[in-house]
Amino acid sequence: MSSAVIAVDTLVVGSGPSALTLSYLLNGYEPYYDGELEGEEKIDPIIHELFSSTPGSMFGPVLHSRALHTYLANSHSSDPAATTCAMNGLFDRLAAPNFDFDPNARSQSRIRYKKTGISVPHLVVGSSLCSGGQWACVDEANSRTLSYGEMLSLPGFSFSEFHALVHPGVILDPCTRPPRSDVSAYYSMYPSRVGISDTIRANHTVLSLRRSSSGKTFTVIIQDNHSGRLTVVSARNITLASGIFSHSVPPDPILHPVLDRTSSRSASQEKLTLVIGSGFSAADAVLTCPSDHKVLHLFKWDPRLKPSPLRGCHQESYPEYAGLYKLMRQAAIKNNTPTCRACLKDKHMSRELPLSSRYEGMANSTLLSASPWSVHIRTSSGKIVERYVTEIKTHVGRFGVISYLSSELRAELGLDPGQFWASRHTFRSRIDSRLNRWTVLRKDGSLDETYVLDLTERESSDLFSASHGLELAPGVFVIGSLVGDTLVRYTLGSCVTVAGNILDRYKIYSS
Ligand SMILES: Cc1cc2nc3c(=O)[nH]c(=O)nc-3n(C[C@H](O)[C@H](O)[C@H](O)COP(=O)(O)OP(=O)(O)OC[C@H]3O[C@@H](n4cnc5c(N)ncnc54)[C@H](O)[C@@H]3O)c2cc1C
Repeated sequence: MSSAVIAVDTLVVGSGPSALTLSYLLNGYEPYYDGELEGEEKIDPIIHELFSSTPGSMFGPVLHSRALHTYLANSHSSDPAATTCAMNGLFDRLAAPNFDFDPNARSQSRIRYKKTGISVPHLVVGSSLCSGGQWACVDEANSRTLSYGEMLSLPGFSFSEFHALVHPGVILDPCTRPPRSDVSAYYSMYPSRVGISDTIRANHTVLSLRRSSSGKTFTVIIQDNHSGRLTVVSARNITLASGIFSHSVPPDPILHPVLDRTSSRSASQEKLTLVIGSGFSAADAVLTCPSDHKVLHLFKWDPRLKPSPLRGCHQESYPEYAGLYKLMRQAAIKNNTPTCRACLKDKHMSRELPLSSRYEGMANSTLLSASPWSVHIRTSSGKIVERYVTEIKTHVGRFGVISYLSSELRAELGLDPGQFWASRHTFRSRIDSRLNRWTVLRKDGSLDETYVLDLTERESSDLFSASHGLELAPGVFVIGSLVGDTLVRYTLGSCVTVAGNILDRYKIYSS
C-alpha cells in the first residue's frame, strides 16, 4: 500500500443523494428564484417578496438575510408539515409547491440553476460501489420506493429525464413508486449527466478524519476499497453526509435458536413468517410475505409519543401501507385479542387469502424465549403464547457509523467519546443550539461567530453568513439524513445552505 497527499477545499463523506446535490452546487450551479411563474398563490407572499426582491442567486438571502432567518424561526413551529430543518421545508415547497397533493408539482418549481464561473475544489468520498449511497445496493426483491419517482429527483437531471432516457416511449406515471433498481441506476448515472464525475470517489471509505494541529484544516485518510490504496487528503471544510441507514440493528439474541437452526424440517405444516418492527422495512416484509404464509407481526405501538411512520401514509397514495397501519391499529386497540385467530387456526387456508385474514398483530409484546421452530411471547395483556415459526424477518432500525471521526472531533461536536453511531437525533440538539449563530467572515479570511440577534438587518450582509445550525463546529457541516429529515426531497435546503457557506469562504480565501 502506498499513500499520496491531495489538498481540496472541501471533503464530503458519503455519496448519497445529499452529497450529490451538494457536489452539484459546489461545481458552480447556483440556485435562482423564478418569480415569474403563474400560480403565485402557491408560494408564501413573504417568501416570494424576499427572494424576488433580492438580485443574484438564492445563496444571498439564505446566507445573509436576517428577515429570512426570523421568518423561518417563527413559521417553523406552526407548520404542520414541519421538517426538522426549516430550510429543508422551505426549499421543498419552492422546488415542488404542494408536493403532497400534486404529483406534478415539480413542473411548478420556483428554482432554476445557472452555471456560474466559480467551482469549489472538493471531493465526494463514498463507500458504496457507485454513487447513490444507500440506493447503490438493491435488495433481492428489488422492492419499490416509498416515494414517487419525482420526489427522488436531484437538481439538474430529474428522475423523469432519466426515465425518458432509459425507457424511451414509456410515459412515467407521476404516481409511480419506481423499483429500487431504477433509482439506483438514476443516482449512478447522475454525476456523468450533470458533469460532476471528476469530484466523486466511489468505492472509497473515509477511515479517519481529524482536525490538524493548526486547527485550520482537516486531515483525512481515505481507502480505495478495491486496491486498499490509502490517500491522505487535506481539506479546509468537511461535510458529513454519511447517512443513518448503513447498518441494521441486529436481531434480539433470544432469536438465535431460530436463526441458527440446522434442520429444515418443521414439526408443523403451517407456514408462518414472524416480522418484527413498525417501520417501512418491516411493512415491506409483511406485505411481501408469500400468500401461503401466515404473518405474525410484533411491533411497538405508541401513537402519541413515537408513532409508526406508516401513520402518515394516505389511503389513496399508499393503500398497502395505510391498510397495514389499520390492521396494526386494530390489533393494538383490541389489546392483542387476536383479530384473525379463527383464520390462523384454519389448516385448509387458501393460497390466495388476503393479508387481513392471514395477519396477526401483537403490539408492545415481549419475546421471552425461542426454540428452533417456535417462539414464546408475552402479549401486552400479560398472556403467554407460543407460535411455530418458519421464517423470521427483523427490521427494528438502522444506524450510521461515525467512528471515522477522531475522538477529539467527536468531543468538539458534543458527542460522548464512546458514540460511534448516528441516528436522525444524534446532531439535533447541536443543530438547534447553533441556529442563532452567524459566521463573521473577515476580509483577511479569518472566521468568527456572532449571535444573529446582535445584528441589524443592514449589518447582516456580506460579512455575516447564517449556517442555520448546520455548521456543527468551525468548518464541519452536516447534510442529508444526518440532519434528521430522511427523505430525499428534504435534502435541498441544507445543501444550499452548506454550499453557500462554503462558496462564500472560498471566494474570500481565493481572492
Ligand atoms: C429501506 C429504505 C427505504 C427508503 N426509501 C426512501 C424513499 O422511497 N424515498 C426517500 O426519499 N427516502 C427513502 N429512504 C430514506 C433515505 O434516507 C434517503 O433516500 C437518502 O438515501 C438519504 O441520503 P443521504 O445522502 O443522507 O445518505 P445515504 O443515502 O444514506 O448515503 C450515505 C452513504 O455514505 C456511506 N458512508 C458511511 N460512512 C462512510 C465512510 N466512512 N466513508 C465513505 N462513505 C461512507 C454509506 O455507506 C452510504 O452509502 C429510505 C431509507 C431506507 C433505509
